[in-house]
Amino acid sequence: MADNRDTCSKCGQESILKGDIGLRNSKTMDLVVVVRQDHGVEKNVPLQPRVCGRCGFVDLYVKDPVHLKICAEDKPINPDFKQRPILEADF
Ligand SMILES: [Zn+2]
Repeated sequence: MADNRDTCSKCGQESILKGDIGLRNSKTMDLVVVVRQDHGVEKNVPLQPRVCGRCGFVDLYVKDPVHLKICAEDKPINPDFKQRPILEADF
């Protein structure tokens, strides 16, 4: 599918809603949390959705994918989490 940002990748119509649309947790107003289950690490990351005004299809993009990578400073949120060593393959 083309990179055309105005074109819905489901119905193919140029009906993507204009403007900056954001997703938030309505309670905390936090950004969406991504959980890396292997390590019990949670990370907030802004998601950029594209919403089709015709069929309602939603495409999601992560604004900062590099942020989701696990680094040595990341700690599991659950202290009882059985941590396996962070491997080179995780980066
Ligand atoms: Zn559509």
